[in-house]
Amino acid sequence: MNKKAVNLKQTTCPYCGVGCGIDVTVNDSKLTRVDGSSEHPANFGRLCIKGSSVLETNDLSGRLLQPMIANATVSWDEATRHVADKFNQTIAKYGADSVAFYVSGQLLTEDYYVANKLMKGYIGSANIDTNSRLCMSSAVAAYKRAFGSDTVPCNYEDIEDTDCLVLLGSNAAWTHPVLFQRMERAKQLNPNMKVVVIDPRKSATTELADLHLAIKPGTDVALLNGLLNYLFANQLIDNEFVSLSTEGLELALEQSKLWTLEKVAQVCDITVQELETYYKWFAHSPTAVTFYCMGVNQSSQGTDKANAIINCHLAAGKIGSAGNGPFSITGQPNAMGGREVGGLANMLAAHMDIENDKHTDLVQRFWQSPRIAKKAGAKAVDMFEKVKSGDIKAIWIMATNPAVSLPNGNEVAKALEACPLVVVSDCVDNTDTMEWADVRFPATTWSEKNGTVTNSERRISRQRGIMPPPGQAKHDWQIICDIAKAMGFNRGFNFTHPVDVFEEHARLSGFENNGQRDFDISGLAGINQTQYDKLRPIQWPVTKDYPLGRARMFDDGRFFTASKKAKFIGVEAKDPVQKTSEAYPFVCNTGRIRDQWHTMTRTGKAAKLTAHISEPFVAIHPDDASALELVDGAIARVFSETGESLVKVKVDSGQRKKELFIPMHWNKQFAANANINRLFASVVDPVSGQPELKHAAVNIEAY
Ligand code: SF4
Repeated sequence: MNKKAVNLKQTTCPYCGVGCGIDVTVNDSKLTRVDGSSEHPANFGRLCIKGSSVLETNDLSGRLLQPMIANATVSWDEATRHVADKFNQTIAKYGADSVAFYVSGQLLTEDYYVANKLMKGYIGSANIDTNSRLCMSSAVAAYKRAFGSDTVPCNYEDIEDTDCLVLLGSNAAWTHPVLFQRMERAKQLNPNMKVVVIDPRKSATTELADLHLAIKPGTDVALLNGLLNYLFANQLIDNEFVSLSTEGLELALEQSKLWTLEKVAQVCDITVQELETYYKWFAHSPTAVTFYCMGVNQSSQGTDKANAIINCHLAAGKIGSAGNGPFSITGQPNAMGGREVGGLANMLAAHMDIENDKHTDLVQRFWQSPRIAKKAGAKAVDMFEKVKSGDIKAIWIMATNPAVSLPNGNEVAKALEACPLVVVSDCVDNTDTMEWADVRFPATTWSEKNGTVTNSERRISRQRGIMPPPGQAKHDWQIICDIAKAMGFNRGFNFTHPVDVFEEHARLSGFENNGQRDFDISGLAGINQTQYDKLRPIQWPVTKDYPLGRARMFDDGRFFTASKKAKFIGVEAKDPVQKTSEAYPFVCNTGRIRDQWHTMTRTGKAAKLTAHISEPFVAIHPDDASALELVDGAIARVFSETGESLVKVKVDSGQRKKELFIPMHWNKQFAANANINRLFASVVDPVSGQPELKHAAVNIEAY
């Protein structure tokens, strides 16, 4: 073998928000092997099965390789001209808010940056939202209410350093496996570490738990208000921290004082003893981390739930030091990077606010753009409702499959059917959403894309372009810049390499900042291509004061509110919006399985990954199965007011009675009638706009 033809490239996994580093062996221009990067601080050499199988999903089968209009292959020039003209005509006739971009946590930060710049600074609308709305927007809204900024306080070492790890609404063993391996090891090294898992169902994660609280779904705020009340009633409040660094405790206590142990236990449907054990462990352990995920965020009260978690950490002073803090974990590889560049309809670039005149003025001056959006645009669910109603007449969907992933799938299909112009950029040619595409743009994917992502602990890592784009595929940032220029916006989009975009993003983050805003990577301004190619994983902020990044936020007790104090938010426990009834007596919960990713458009290609669980299923308690004469392996019809799904029965004693669990992944290619999100109505959290995907009212019968 010619040794010169073999080399190693470092990149980042394209799947979950852990953001593991991957070493790729390249042999004669072919990717031949992947290993976890031993140097990457997210994984230190570990990979889960999805990451280690990434090469099996990376061949050219099923790739979209040519631009297409209707079903005809066209040149890039023709496709670009067609879309730019249609967008311009629509805007001229109906205004800027008649067009929209629906983007993705799969995009790299550089892609996201130019998409946001085009929509908000040049088209002049904020109608750009992302599938990350479905992932972590409740966590964002809660951080902003409490800290004045979207700042994740913790890092992964806190999970290992803590004395009490509370996993709330997370099946980390399957959804964030490498972090879960770090938890297992931490528990082995420190057997006194307490692990509490709060989840209505038994899962692979509950096997690590010293205490599993199988609470009634939707009762999290009662549980957490009870904890705040317990801290107060037992003089366990950190008075010094509360008086120096917070405000508003009285308001939060107003709500929480109603929640006695007995009342919480009754509402959450657990014993007083179980409840008190959790409260004691949290309060009396020197340190505690609450690790929370979609079980909290994907809720009609997701923002309140996250603030109820933060309230308890503020009251106990368990924040801003090693092993302490409320820690939201993102699902996607770059949900965090999207937040940084303003890829949400209610945010501006660099964590600035779209409805803040100073911020819009600052960003417009920096961009020197012809206009700037000044009001929030349509959030994901609302965006597709506006498409259906005709308010939005042209939509560009990038790197995501909303026909499967958004709630109320039948209505999403009607929206796409009715829309005069649907443009889809994707690496895959046959997603469910593609059925409605008038124009298809072939985009690059992992191993071809070149840029940065940010993981759940604020760590920016490089995803490196190793292979050239196949066929006619282009990088998303290039496609967006080409469309911008074809629309007549020449000045702001003359980027020739992703480093140009990243450098502008870094400069904007520090522009007139002076420590006022949390997201600041001005220490990377001026970065050149060689430095960018060598960029090592680093946690923002990266500034003069923190040239090597900052591991933990709020260690100085100062927050980003006007008073520099964190705010307690009084939260009232509310019932989930989608309530059970005689016609729909079961609660339906959804989630991920260990070996699949999102709507399976890539992981569905790997035999090794589909071997784990090959068919969609519904988990049901044995008593319910027996009452309905449903047996393991039979096909069941699960139905709600909004749709139905056909799935295999899995009798599971880890389910609570009258509650079902169905995984979210299957697309039409792998199971024609299993689209689970059709069962969910378009219910969203009123603050964050994140849809409820954990609590639908459904019925089930033998099929
Ligand atoms: Fe990839 Fe997440 Fe697995 Fe790490 S834990 S290898 S980031 S899927």
